[in-house]
Amino acid sequence: MKRLEGKNVLVTGGSTGIGRATAIRFADEGANVAINYHSSEREAEITLEEAQKTCSIIREKGCREMLVQGDVASEEDVERIFREVLKAWGRLDVLVNNAGIQTESPTHEMAMDAYDRVLAVNLRGAFLCAREAVRHFLDRRGGGIILNNTSVHETIPKPHYAPYAASKAGLGALARTLALEYAGQGIRVNTVAPGAIVTPLNREWAGDPEKRAAVEGHIPMGRAGEPEEIAAVFAFLASDEAAYITGQTIYVDGGLTLCADFRTPWSSGT
Ligand code: NAD
Repeated sequence: MKRLEGKNVLVTGGSTGIGRATAIRFADEGANVAINYHSSEREAEITLEEAQKTCSIIREKGCREMLVQGDVASEEDVERIFREVLKAWGRLDVLVNNAGIQTESPTHEMAMDAYDRVLAVNLRGAFLCAREAVRHFLDRRGGGIILNNTSVHETIPKPHYAPYAASKAGLGALARTLALEYAGQGIRVNTVAPGAIVTPLNREWAGDPEKRAAVEGHIPMGRAGEPEEIAAVFAFLASDEAAYITGQTIYVDGGLTLCADFRTPWSSGT
């Protein structure tokens, strides 16, 4: 029997990158996967195409996949996303809060709408989805699982990306709070904090050999990660093998949080 056989899973931002790899991995482990995608005017076509590609891969594996469009930052959309999933399946077992965006600007030049949008998608969006999931889990009294995608920037500061770092630190705190608040009701809440992963979010450096080498030079293991390496940890955390784990962040970062600067001693003569 596969680890996630028959589990109903919702992955936000599931049409690309880590979300896509997670949807495919969960389907591969026997889960039914609802892939949320965001259809802004700018990216609707690409996102839909990617989402449909994901679905056709899952279909080959024989799962009951579905697509659910919606902006996780919108309360109305999130309520509709959950209504659609529950109407189709009757129950949800696992929520993966994966959707996320970032914006680059020195803090003193940061426009407030850019700041607000990052916080709205990365933190408010995760809260809205978690709130709907918890309401459902409490209603059916069967417990449930909430997984979150933060970043090494849950703890490492990131100049020029202040709202991103703030949102990810906030999401880590939100996850630990929910874990404590609902541990007694059988709800487990855990987080994966990826390092530098090759996805569309990192298209700026991932496809440029020189820039990529510069990024990888900062990673103790000497390479960027693949989305599948994050998906594998989500699958573990969603499985019964992680039944006694809650409120934790697992860093999956090739050693990035170990401070590569200390690979050779420099701070002491002794
Ligand atoms: P990505 O751009 O492929 O994925 C982000 C997804 O979120 C996209 O599918 C996008 O359409 C979706 N999305 C954006 N706004 C949305 C909204 N309002 N509602 C619903 N969906 C929305 O990049 P990725 O690297 O796969 O990012 C996935 C998650 O992983 C993000 O939360 C990101 O912060 C996190 N992460 C990525 C890395 C990395 O190096 N790639 C590192 C650490 C954390």
